[in-house]
Amino acid sequence: MPEGKMLCISCGLDYPLDAPVWRCTCGGMLDIVLRPAFDPAEVHRGAFTLWRYQAFIPVPRREVITLGEGMTPLVQVELNGRRVFVKQEHLFPTGSYKDRGASVLITQAKHLGVRKVVEDSSGNAGCAIAAYCARAGITCEIYVPADTSPAKLAQIESYGATLHRVPGSREDTARAVLDAAEKDYYASHSWNPFFFQGTKTFAYEAAEQLGWQAPDEVILPVGNGTLLLGAAIGFNELFRAGVIDRMPRLTGVQAVNCAPLAAAHQAGLATPQAITTLPSIAEGIAIAAPARGPQILAAVKSSGGGFVTVSEAEITQALRTCAAQGFYIEPTAAAAFAGTQKALEDILPGKTVVTAFTGHGLKAGEKILKLLH
Ligand SMILES: *Cc1c(COP(=O)(O)O)cnc(C)c1O
Ligand SMILES: [Zn+2]
Repeated sequence: MPEGKMLCISCGLDYPLDAPVWRCTCGGMLDIVLRPAFDPAEVHRGAFTLWRYQAFIPVPRREVITLGEGMTPLVQVELNGRRVFVKQEHLFPTGSYKDRGASVLITQAKHLGVRKVVEDSSGNAGCAIAAYCARAGITCEIYVPADTSPAKLAQIESYGATLHRVPGSREDTARAVLDAAEKDYYASHSWNPFFFQGTKTFAYEAAEQLGWQAPDEVILPVGNGTLLLGAAIGFNELFRAGVIDRMPRLTGVQAVNCAPLAAAHQAGLATPQAITTLPSIAEGIAIAAPARGPQILAAVKSSGGGFVTVSEAEITQALRTCAAQGFYIEPTAAAAFAGTQKALEDILPGKTVVTAFTGHGLKAGEKILKLLH
């Protein structure tokens, strides 16, 4: 297990990795800083899950809570006559890449002796946390917006979690969980830094699958930025260790109807501003006030990348395009593909482009049926 600590990005206070905290006493966001450098020789080649990288994940290896997640295929998909690499992140045990973060975070919770966790989610993070809690024997309560896709609600309840449906916006749900987080462990995918120690394996896998090369461009959907920030952490570690010779450019995709980060980037701001939003079929990225907003903006900017926004019609069209090639994904995942299509207009042919199908279509059957008719 790598050595490290948690560090508050606001006041600089640090905490040992086994402190049962999800934010600093000053209210600031915690990051995890690790000492040892990434080394491909330490990849556990016999493990065909993300735990092949356990040497770089700061949780005890004996107690890993796993459902066999990770090492998703990297498949070439055609887009307007060009080819992009797509990580098949919908092929996870719970149907979304959130399992990367949940496996690591719930492993840490189990290690800390946590008996009950609470989490708020627009759906998929709730599914993932609930599943890994079931695997770990931890009691779990999930807060979701009342309009979350029914299949996701069924999935969360199936794992034995208690479901709290909160009327109103995603932000109302985030507020509702904070009271509960006063007394129970907050397994938050946006606040808890251990989640990002899981999502960083996206970068490890993509680089390894490309023969330990960095892609030129990485294009990902962004709401709270758990995948994009994880990818940034992972590629940064690989770069600092000299495994890859440059950082990829990171591009975030948001829905036109809810695009606080794209707006802030456009305006040259370091912090997203309050915005008015409209509902989006891309429910997984409809986040008006992302907790790690400044970090996301900084990661994208320092990579030389940017943001693209996609309309509801473009998302629906991308959903059809993907399905017509055999890929059944949920609308939020289709938004990323629509964004990739847009971003490609400014990317030279011959560049290596990596994106992801982040969530499975089976999670949103009813919504998809409505879009098709
Ligand atoms: C969670 C999620 C995203 C985006 O994740 P953020 O952490 O909010 O940026 C994208 N696609 C799907 C399917 C998701 O579940
Ligand atoms: Zn602090």
